[in-house]
Amino acid sequence: MTRTAHCSCGALRVEVSADPDAVVACHCGECQRRTGSMFVRAEGPSKIFVRDGQERRKLRMHFCPTCGTTVFWEADLRPDNIGFAVGAFRDSNFPRPTRSVWEESKHGWVAFAHDIPHLAQGRPT
Ligand SMILES: [Zn+2]
Ligand SMILES: [Zn+2]
Repeated sequence: MTRTAHCSCGALRVEVSADPDAVVACHCGECQRRTGSMFVRAEGPSKIFVRDGQERRKLRMHFCPTCGTTVFWEADLRPDNIGFAVGAFRDSNFPRPTRSVWEESKHGWVAFAHDIPHLAQGRPT
């Protein structure tokens, strides 16, 4: 099954032809600010913003130069994986989260209707 994620203006599109390894609800401050291995084909221009992760690791966020939407990212922590913003698939039937991380900065009103692991920080490496 193929899923397509795209930015707000549609210029940056990503086709994914595998199911996600994990669907993670991340509550960290950086993910909140920017409002899981797959087979990927990216199309259209993207710019990269590199930000610091934990322990000097880097994350490379790929965003659309026209509308600014972050569609996917690569992380030093998991070099064989590519992360996607689930919202960019515009699919309300997308698989639900398999874990919730960085709950130490989670908003109090966020709750899950299903049972998943709750981690105060990221998953231990
Ligand atoms: Zn765009
Ligand atoms: Zn995060």
